[in-house]
Order: sequence, then C-alpha cells, then structure tokens
Amino acid sequence: SGSRIPLIAGNWKMNLDHLQATHLVQKLDWVLRDASHAYDEVEVAVFPPFTHLRSVETLIQADQLEIMLGAQDLSQHASGAHTGDISGPMLAKLGCEYVIIGHSERREQHQETDALVNLKVKAALAANLAPVICVGESLATREAGEHIAFVTRQVDEALEGIEASRLGRAVIAYEPVWAIGTGAVASAEDAQEVCAEIRQRVAHTHGQELADGMRILYGGSVKPASIAELMDKEDVDGALVGGASLTAEEFAQIIRFRS
Ligand code: PEP
Repeated sequence: SGSRIPLIAGNWKMNLDHLQATHLVQKLDWVLRDASHAYDEVEVAVFPPFTHLRSVETLIQADQLEIMLGAQDLSQHASGAHTGDISGPMLAKLGCEYVIIGHSERREQHQETDALVNLKVKAALAANLAPVICVGESLATREAGEHIAFVTRQVDEALEGIEASRLGRAVIAYEPVWAIGTGAVASAEDAQEVCAEIRQRVAHTHGQELADGMRILYGGSVKPASIAELMDKEDVDGALVGGASLTAEEFAQIIRFRS
C-alpha cells in the first residue's frame, strides 16, 4: 500500500444501544492498548449511529483514545427545512472527522443516486469532513463482466466537479454489494483489481498525485481470517468493516492484521 497509512473503519450501521456503543469503544481501546503490537501504524475509525456520536466522542476525548470518529451519512444541505436530516456542520461540531457517503444500503433503501452522492461529497468537504465514498457493483453486474465500468463510473460521478486540491483527505471504499453482510468476501485478487482500477481512474480525472495518496479501502464481509491477504495487495489501503466491527476482539484482530 505504498506510503499510505492504512485505515480500518468500523461501520456499526443501525446496531447497538447507547450503553453498548460506549462500552464497545472503551473495550476496543482497552484491547488495542493491551496488545504488544502498537496500532499507531494503522488509523482506526468507528462510525456509530448519529444518536451515539456525542457519547463516543466524549469517551475518545476524555480517555485520549486514538480512535477517529465518523458518521454513516449526512444531508447534502448545511441547514434548513430538512426534517430528520443531519448536516455536515453538525457532525463536524460533534468531533467527526469522517462521513460515509453512498453506502449501498443507502443507495438501495433510500434511493440515493450518484448525483446525490456527489452533492453529499461536496457538503462533507464544505464542512471539513473527509468523505468515505462507497462504490460497488451488484452480482448481476459482476456476472455480466461490467464491474470495472460500473464502479469507475460511480467514482467519476461522485467526484464530478470537485477540484483535486479539495480531495486530499477523501477515501474511496470498494464494496461489492454481493459481499456486504453475506459472508462472501471478495478474493484478494478481485479486490486488488478493482481498487487498482479506481486509483487509475482517479489519476486520469484528478491527477496522479491525488491518486497516489488516496486511500482506497475494500469492504464486504472482512473478518480476521481474510484481512491480511487483502492488506498485502498494493492498492488495498484498508477496510470498511460492518459485522466484524461490532465486537472489540474481532475488530482489534482486523486492526492488528500484521501480527
Ligand atoms: C459495510 O457495511 O460496509 C460492510 C462491509 O459490512 P460487512 O463487513 O458486514 O459485510
């Protein structure tokens, strides 16, 4: 993964009650600190539900945990008459560094389009949040052999009209829909193929310098047993982890993929 600092990101989705969430982040820190292997070569981020962000942030601050905070979505608007939505400035004020945008569950369950994803990326950047932009093809698209064209078009549309100079902290997560929550992790070769194509595409549209520094993650049923092989690949710079981020031991094993 070159000089890029790996990012292991835990997407908690709509799981855990408030006490479980605060317990998990404390236990995670405890497990990581307890290990003989430092985790300072890996950046760790957690993405709790909105309602738990404040408490998790308080714990991170109070105990000086080396865990970054992110949200799972944001509004494309900064404020106004948008009942039920949460804005980028609100998340930034809560201490979020990151925000997931265009997760396949939002694309499917909330009809989020590539055009909306693009607006949300712009909203995140305007609030000084680093977007974690999710892309990935369905099984039918992969079986048709169109996954590269499909994913690179998603990347194009997500980054449309945004200058490279603003995208220095942006992250792309390649998450094949058929691998999310299914237990069917992509092979390391398949993950590498698509992550490399994404990097090439970003180099083409936004320049080699941005592409070389950009972290491209793999997501989809990552477990302790599969992480090392994925991380060995040149263009896989980390993982977006769903199910396996919900227990401290499992998530810590993924973070310590080198040991
Ligand atoms: C995800 O939600 O981004 C994800 C990859 O989930 P899981 O690890 O459970 O497949």
